[in-house]
Amino acid sequence: MKDAVLKSALQLGPTPRAGVLLPYPLPGPYDYKLPSGVEVARGLLVTAPLGPREALGAVWGQAEGAVGDNRLKYATPLEGHPVLPADLCDFIDWVADYTLNYPGMVLAMALRSRQAFEPGAPRTAYVRGHETPKRLTPARARVLEIAGDGLARSVPALAEEANVTPAVVRGLIEAGALVGVELPEFDPVPRPDPHFAPTTLSLEQEAAARSLKAAVAAKRFSTALLDGVTGSGKTETYFEAIAEAVAQDKQVLILLPEIALTVQFLDRFAARFGCRPAEWHSDLGQKERRRVYRAAMSGEARVIVGARSALFLPFRALGLVIVDEEHEQAYKQEEGPIYHARDMAVVRARIAKCPVVLASATPSLETFVNATGGRYAHLVLPRRHGNATLPEVRLIDVTRERGDAGTFLSPPLREALAATLASGEQAMLFLNRRGYAPLTLCEACGYKITCPNCSAWLVEHRYRRRLMCHHCGYDTHTPAECPQCAAPSSFIACGPGVERVAEEFAQVFPEARMAIASSDTMQGPGETQAAIRAMHKREIDVLIGTQIVAKGHHFPQLTLVGVVDADLGGSDGDMRARERTFQLLHQVSGRAGRADKPGLVLIQTRNPKDPVMQALAKGDRDAFYEQERVSRERAGSPPFGRLAAIILSSADADAARDAGRILAKAAPSARGVKVWGPTPAFYSLLRGQTRERLLVQAERGVDIQAYLRAWLRQAKITGVVRLTVDIDPMSFF
Ligand code: ADP
Ligand code: ZN
Repeated sequence: MKDAVLKSALQLGPTPRAGVLLPYPLPGPYDYKLPSGVEVARGLLVTAPLGPREALGAVWGQAEGAVGDNRLKYATPLEGHPVLPADLCDFIDWVADYTLNYPGMVLAMALRSRQAFEPGAPRTAYVRGHETPKRLTPARARVLEIAGDGLARSVPALAEEANVTPAVVRGLIEAGALVGVELPEFDPVPRPDPHFAPTTLSLEQEAAARSLKAAVAAKRFSTALLDGVTGSGKTETYFEAIAEAVAQDKQVLILLPEIALTVQFLDRFAARFGCRPAEWHSDLGQKERRRVYRAAMSGEARVIVGARSALFLPFRALGLVIVDEEHEQAYKQEEGPIYHARDMAVVRARIAKCPVVLASATPSLETFVNATGGRYAHLVLPRRHGNATLPEVRLIDVTRERGDAGTFLSPPLREALAATLASGEQAMLFLNRRGYAPLTLCEACGYKITCPNCSAWLVEHRYRRRLMCHHCGYDTHTPAECPQCAAPSSFIACGPGVERVAEEFAQVFPEARMAIASSDTMQGPGETQAAIRAMHKREIDVLIGTQIVAKGHHFPQLTLVGVVDADLGGSDGDMRARERTFQLLHQVSGRAGRADKPGLVLIQTRNPKDPVMQALAKGDRDAFYEQERVSRERAGSPPFGRLAAIILSSADADAARDAGRILAKAAPSARGVKVWGPTPAFYSLLRGQTRERLLVQAERGVDIQAYLRAWLRQAKITGVVRLTVDIDPMSFF
């Protein structure tokens, strides 16, 4: 309707005008003229001059200003007049509004692949022509025989198949024995076959799958939590919903939290549907990006699996959104426009009028409350698939059961490792800390080596012989003498990282085959993948890793999981610290005993009485969630209240602090709204920026965005201070 009105309004005059949204931090669309006769609509992609630049943008609405035609510049539609789908345009507006970002900056996320819009070069391929060459060598004969089947092949492909040089093929082209045909730039995207290899589901899986399929068939917005214990077959179950959507000629978006998971995931998908889905994430090359973007827009790509940025792809007919491991923190984008991809996935589905499925063994408390409160359908898979049972979880109180000073594997954990290795099974040691040691300290005076740009300790990476900052990447050598007391060679490593655990393990079990997997700057994704593959192929016995190994992986022979330090999550005043620790340790535990052999999980802790540790040991997730729910409700924390953070950062420390004070003074008073701060952020110095935080806490019914807008409109923040709004903050750093 809106489009139709807009179209006719724009086509009335000889020079149509439009408000064009550009991917920059501007308050709204800018007015441009469009060439007459152009069919115009919201979402029409154009290039438009902006100062010295030629920017890619999209028609967003009618021109607003009363500027004369002669003072407006022309925007030019892209070749073929591609138009962003209406639901994507609405989504962009919604996200900008909700997160208090400039709409152009949100549009920028949808236009990141500029190459996608440039006209593509068709490929030339060759088939058998009518001429027969005068000179027919055996090499030439081979090429012609292959080309005789009528399939079009490129020059290199023909040369390779016939085992001749490309020159032989080119000679045949000149002789007219091969003729060129034009092929589109890309091969067609393979279409997943819903009937390729359906899984026989258990009764519980079948019930959940039926309900998801019905939601897809209904073609309207709905939300379901697929709540299944680790190894219960959540993936197999939502595959059935995907099959239904594909059968209905709809597109599917699957969001995954970690790129590292996709290789196994893609193969599993291919086993069920006969081909891999299309992928979308930051590691894609330019050409692949262009291909997937265009295939999303044409509707040719039926299923796209991606990281959070895939939310902004121009799906033509979105029919289902899946958010796997919906509780994952990686779904929160903390830079640029700050948004939570799980929450935005629900909005994306609502606007596209299709169902969204959130899957997890440890849902976020927000989702859990929505599901148990009846706002979301709650589909439960209470058992592991097949004969697998949930592992036994035991706590090890390391204040009592400890080994020698400077060791981190307690006697019971060492015994269990020895038993597992002796029986030829596999083990995993988990420690959520990269590097060798988190702190390097002068033994003489206690001086701690910190980052010059961040209020953080430098982490020792022994294999690399460097001290590194995990926040800004700064790195240096361990100084020969202490800069504070000048004591020579006085630095010692404090506490363990995965490298140090690996070192201890190798000393105790010199025969065992072991690998480290950590999301490290020194260890590219390739190395991590190699470690995971080695574990699958049983080339190693023990995998030692950070949270990168905690999730998703299915190692059938893995029967022992050791959590080296369960207390790391801490409780630094963050209301989600307990929930996160529980989720992470539960996920890690879920790696054990996923096939026929039962699993054992040993958790080393100094606080065995802690409710999180107790919930893990008793396997009583819902009682723990209920406790958390009550404590959040009492505190008015999300989802029972709303939070927004304002972060002020500046290279000028005084300016950041002044801005915090000025902003706090300007806070309007409103019913049901409290403003806390300013206080220095947890990392008060980060990448050379001093950071102050304010926190807004509001009752559930308050329009927190409206409150913030009214406040920020009248506060004057100087240019040297950057102000960032984080709606629904997940981290308090
Ligand atoms: P989750 O995602 O809930 O952790 P998965 O979907 O990864 O569980 O399933 C765990 C394992 O059990 C996988 O290897 C999967 O292929 C297998 N599995 C689950 N359900 C079935 C089924 N109905 N038939 C055969 N294998 C299944
Ligand atoms: Zn740093």
